[in-house]
Amino acid sequence: MKNFYDFTLKELQIYLAQFGKEKFRAEQLFRWVYQKGETDVSEMSNLSKGFRDEIEGLLEFNLPRVQQQLDSLDGTRKFLMEVESEKTVESVLIPNGDRLTLCVSSEVGCAMGCRFCFTAKMGLMRRLHAYEIVGQFINAAKSLDDGRRITNIVFMGMGEPLDNVENVTRAIEILHDQRGIAFALRKITVSTSGIVPQIHRVAQAGVRLAVSLNATTDEIRDNVMSINRKYPLNELLDACKEYAKETGEMITFEYVLLKGVNDSLDDARRIVKLTKGIPSKINLIPFNEHPGSGFVRPASQEVAEFQSLLMKLGKHVLVRRTMGRDIYAACGQLRSEMEKHPEKMAIH
Ligand code: SAH
Ligand code: SF4
Repeated sequence: MKNFYDFTLKELQIYLAQFGKEKFRAEQLFRWVYQKGETDVSEMSNLSKGFRDEIEGLLEFNLPRVQQQLDSLDGTRKFLMEVESEKTVESVLIPNGDRLTLCVSSEVGCAMGCRFCFTAKMGLMRRLHAYEIVGQFINAAKSLDDGRRITNIVFMGMGEPLDNVENVTRAIEILHDQRGIAFALRKITVSTSGIVPQIHRVAQAGVRLAVSLNATTDEIRDNVMSINRKYPLNELLDACKEYAKETGEMITFEYVLLKGVNDSLDDARRIVKLTKGIPSKINLIPFNEHPGSGFVRPASQEVAEFQSLLMKLGKHVLVRRTMGRDIYAACGQLRSEMEKHPEKMAIH
């Protein structure tokens, strides 16, 4: 028995063909499930009784289970979802004007070990299957009972999406399929810490790229993001140029501001130099504190100065508003396993 939500349309066609089923059967199922929200096969009225009975034996409809849903005072909604092998991941819905962005996880934990990130403390526990990524979307969409719809998807939750690139790109294909959810590719952003050899896959998938720059010299970046020792800044920025050339799209550079580490005005000037010639915007994220990190968030005055220098130097730059801090849903605060095992939290 296979899980329906783990199939792209093509894969489902191939799977069903093994049992002598025509191509259009997969399309019918996609429409029923993703467009009409029907997973009870007996309700799929345009399918023959014989086919319906057969599907019961071939496919199951398994989604991650929503274990907890927390609403923040600022409108952010965080989900804790149970995935296979009793692990949990988090997804966050973030309203912003007429946008409603879903931040999804790609892995349980993360192997990259960035020093400022809470998820890193868990290490990598498991890469998510495609259906567990699609499932985060379906569950979050289902929770909206007031007519709102998710307008954007960002892979900025737990995990490094390019460390799980096969399943992430398959999930994107499923989300985008016109016979199904038909989510626009240009409204999907994959954020990476800089796994250089996989960046072309983001271009191939037709989605947007965000890169966690977070430092302006190899020395600082080596120190806070160990991935930089493998793929240093010049290689990362070359891959970004390649992406921009191939897609004609803008890149978002995320930059977590760590007091006294990467927030000097010289850093701001270096950001401009490094990103020269790359169509891009900068997203400043004042560090979200968590126990035992050893890093400090700069004062808002300092953040404002950093931002205005960048603007003066001609960069398009936004400071990411901190959302959902009261429910531990802000960037770098996702920590699902820790919640179940508070004794693991090192509080200094
Ligand atoms: N692994 C991917 C995507 C998930 S992290 C990546 O690293 O890009 C999403 C964003 O949160 C990244 O830009 C990361 O730099 C940022 N981040 C991590 N920990 C943070 C913290 N404690 N405060 C603010 N931003 C943080
Ligand atoms: Fe992983 Fe991204 Fe956190 Fe780094 S910042 S440890 S890549 S989730």
